Amino acid sequence: MLNFELYNPTKLVFGKGQIDKLPTLIPQNAKILLAYGGGSIFKNGVYNQVHESLKGFEVIEFGGIEANPHFETLIKAVAIIKERKIDFILAVGGGSVIDGVKFLSAATHFEGDMMDILKKRILFKDPSQVVPFGTVLTLPATGSEMNSGSVITIEATQEKLDFGGSALFPKFSICDPTVIVSLPKRQIQNGIIDAYTHVLEQYLTYPHEGYLQDRISEGILQTLIEVGPKVVENPTDYALASNYMWCCTMALNGLIQKGVPSDWATHMIGHELTAMYGIDHARTLAIIGPNLYRVMFETKKQKLAQYGKRIFNLSGTEDEIAREAIHKTVAFFHTMGMQTKLSECTKDFDKTADFIVNRFEERGWKALGEKQNITLDKVKQIVERSY
Ligand code: NAP
Ligand code: FE
Repeated sequence: MLNFELYNPTKLVFGKGQIDKLPTLIPQNAKILLAYGGGSIFKNGVYNQVHESLKGFEVIEFGGIEANPHFETLIKAVAIIKERKIDFILAVGGGSVIDGVKFLSAATHFEGDMMDILKKRILFKDPSQVVPFGTVLTLPATGSEMNSGSVITIEATQEKLDFGGSALFPKFSICDPTVIVSLPKRQIQNGIIDAYTHVLEQYLTYPHEGYLQDRISEGILQTLIEVGPKVVENPTDYALASNYMWCCTMALNGLIQKGVPSDWATHMIGHELTAMYGIDHARTLAIIGPNLYRVMFETKKQKLAQYGKRIFNLSGTEDEIAREAIHKTVAFFHTMGMQTKLSECTKDFDKTADFIVNRFEERGWKALGEKQNITLDKVKQIVERSY
């Protein structure tokens, strides 16, 4: 096993009715920026619950953080935070609002061009550099409620870039599984597949001796396969909703990544598809992931075979099981309403591979993946295979 340090200071407050605990989680006398998205919280009652709980606090609201949050929107909120001397931010929403709030937290005291946070991938490690924040999660998917990463889109240049650092863990996250009842089916499907791919990015790597990490990852994958199709149909079933929510958090709170190498190339390529075509984050992963496993088959096949045996009960030679495991993954993605070809999502796809490779070259990215062997030539093959 690789050496590791485990640090995750986020206090997770999980379960029905937990939004009522907000006043005990936010520092007394805090001046709060309540940040939210396009308005779903007004329709499903979450805003009312939060508003009720925050009685007695001074609260300034900032709405309109879009899906795949825009730098251009967020810098308006930074100006408000500075002007109104806000000292605590509360994100109420899905991964986009939470990621957006991580940017606000980092950008407020940042001296210099805020764009550099993204372009230079600044690492935020010192708690005094950031504004503390908490979250009320409304969409289980990203794990952003219990990690310190963030992905922001620069609208002007259509770039989707990530940054983070250990100072950017939420102070707390309230995860009430009943919030999922108002989610459109499409968003639940997205959440399941985003979490599933988060696990695969950390699990389909080898060699390593992280036996426990593998078993935890397999538990999350099996649970997502078990509850995924059912929770889309029955979001009011609390057992399904709570397991879905907890899987998504566990898939990307750092635990399964410790002591093992991780890949993340599917996400890096997927981000480009969202930036170029506006395809939902999870849907880009369903398009890229299986093609990455096909192109990188020799690198991945030992682990794909373990995955095939343990998750899908497959038998045969290592090659046969590994190939069938990719088929089974694609079949699961289809069950969850995903399309797995780029041409099903846009008509404009023929220059995509070259465009992405150029972008990576401009950024100085020569290779991706846990072995840094997904060279730009392989990236091109992966994207072309996804057409
Ligand atoms: P999202 O973009 O936060 O939300 C998608 C849509 O769902 C929005 O239109 C939102 O509407 C709506 N919604 C949210 N909660 C709802 C509810 N309870 N009922 C009804 N509608 C609701 O989706 P997401 O998948 O959570 O986040 C995706 C973003 O996270 C992407 O930018 C992705 O790159 C990023 N990401 C981050 C990480 C990380 O670790 N930080 C990991 C993976 C992905 P409103 O705007 O009206 O609320
Ligand atoms: Fe993701």
